[in-house]
Amino acid sequence: GPALPEGVPPGVREEMTGGGVVVTGAAGFIGSHLAQALARWEVPVLGVDRRWGDAAAEEAPPWGVGGDLATLDLEPLLRGAAVVFHLAGRPGVRPSWDSFPDYLRDNVLVTQRLLETCARLGVPRVVMASSSSVYGDGDGTPMDEERTPCPASPYAVTKLAAERLGMAYAQRARSKLSVVALRYFTVYGPRQRPDMLIARALRSARGEGKLLRILGDGSARRDFTFVDDVVKATLSAATARVPSGTYNVGTGLNTSINELLALVADVTGRFPRVQYTRPHPGDATVTLADPARAADVLGYRPTTSLHDGLVAQARSLAACDASTAAPSRGAG
Ligand code: NAD
Repeated sequence: GPALPEGVPPGVREEMTGGGVVVTGAAGFIGSHLAQALARWEVPVLGVDRRWGDAAAEEAPPWGVGGDLATLDLEPLLRGAAVVFHLAGRPGVRPSWDSFPDYLRDNVLVTQRLLETCARLGVPRVVMASSSSVYGDGDGTPMDEERTPCPASPYAVTKLAAERLGMAYAQRARSKLSVVALRYFTVYGPRQRPDMLIARALRSARGEGKLLRILGDGSARRDFTFVDDVVKATLSAATARVPSGTYNVGTGLNTSINELLALVADVTGRFPRVQYTRPHPGDATVTLADPARAADVLGYRPTTSLHDGLVAQARSLAACDASTAAPSRGAG
């Protein structure tokens, strides 16, 4: 079969191929990259996402099921799975102040239902997407997994609750379920959610639309992690012989928003038009992963520099424009 990405332990494919794997949130930014990587390795994938609902414009692929995980009958979907990757969720810090019930439902209630069903069916491992936001604001030093979480937004509270539910199900008496929660640090790359900073900055630099609104003075720092590196860590977590626990998936480096904008200018040839506004409650001023535990236990080593990752994301935006804007000639 096709070669494993560098840094992913051998044997992973064979172990997952046994029962196949389930990816929730498979139509989303990170979930779609994960599903693609699994398909490339010929691991049988079942994707679930409500974006593929019947009313939606997007049609489900042959390997996908459309529906809401809060109400779907999960047993037939999860039975026999070797691994469940739970990436469905409601992301975004800011809107979580205004629509907490939706966050509670999509991030907490859905996760509990999924864990309950996996435990009942004897699914051996769930890998779930958590978030660096569970730490709250950093002090500039690397955030390691022993740090006491201090979520500063309703979103972060729901991600911490979901993670803790995972640990509770794993520790429950007679549980055969192991749960690995990955705390992703600001993920970017092709197909990044359009509400996220880098996607907005690239669009703005390309002269599309309005001013780029930056909350604060641009000195906030983020540990930006390229989506392919996130996928590698997520795949490694599927079969790693590790006890249940939480792992940072970041790079151990961070970059200020203003430095990022300069890089965006470098990559696109144009500086985004920026408007600085008041910072928002719940936004961290600094995030920085301590990647040591994921390196030791999962063998995770991020390899994509912010510059190279930005080039990849900018290219995919350009390619996407070309395919939608090009007038169709010839055929028809
Ligand atoms: P995304 O919005 O692109 O993908 C999430 C997908 O989950 C969507 O396609 C959505 O339709 C689906 N979904 C949500 N609720 C559902 C439900 N009830 N039933 C069925 N499908 C549902 O977001 P993303 O950026 O790919 O994030 C994926 C996961 O990673 C989320 O759990 C998010 O909290 C977490 N995360 C993301 C980042 C990041 O930087 N992107 C950072 C930390 C954590």
